[in-house]
Amino acid sequence: MSLENSISSNLSVIRDQIEDARQNSVMSADNVCLVAVSKTKPVEAVIGAYAVGQRVFGENKVQEAQAKFADLRAEKNDIELHLIGPLQTNKVKEAIQTFDVIQTVDRPKLVKALSKEIMKQDRHPKFYIQVNTGEEEQKAGVLPKDLSELLDLCESEGLKVSGLMCIPPVEEEPSLHFSFLSELAKKNGLDSLSMGMSSDYELAVRFGATHVRVGSSIFGARDYT
Ligand SMILES: *Cc1c(COP(=O)(O)O)cnc(C)c1O
Repeated sequence: MSLENSISSNLSVIRDQIEDARQNSVMSADNVCLVAVSKTKPVEAVIGAYAVGQRVFGENKVQEAQAKFADLRAEKNDIELHLIGPLQTNKVKEAIQTFDVIQTVDRPKLVKALSKEIMKQDRHPKFYIQVNTGEEEQKAGVLPKDLSELLDLCESEGLKVSGLMCIPPVEEEPSLHFSFLSELAKKNGLDSLSMGMSSDYELAVRFGATHVRVGSSIFGARDYT
């Protein structure tokens, strides 16, 4: 199968599965947005997905996203690009220029840097807070106990937060983390819930995900060598 054909058939299977999961749960959202994670994949893969209606893409690195999407976005103004990887404060300028949604806000220093930059550029992406629901030492994300303080800071710095994002620990049952994130969002009056990847997006949808981030199930396994 050609690259474009396999992407097309993968996308249609995944869209159907998302819709099934959505209809089979009382907790599910009215709409689920499939974020196609194109990290490490060539621009041809993005174009292949775009050709069959995919408009929302996720990248985890600022520079890779810029290189891949700059020309494409100049041509196609309906692409929505999400940052789903950790953001360093020295990349904030490029991040605000490049992304429509930044899902990985997780610390005061970053909030302040983003706030300065959105005013400078007068460009206003949406922001999600990444929550380290498993409290893993090596993982990005704010600890659950520090979430409300960080949200207060976002408010006072003029950062509009629309949702929460998490990446559950690999060894744990993801549904616990999905329901926990959903509760945190409710408690804080936030609508968007970014959770679920290739291995567990249907489960995430059943627990109320509004955004699932799916890479390898669409584009094939990633090659990091
Ligand atoms: C790579 C990545 C994904 C997609 O992972 P797959 O297992 O390939 O679907 C989702 N979320 C984040 C934060 C990622 O870095």
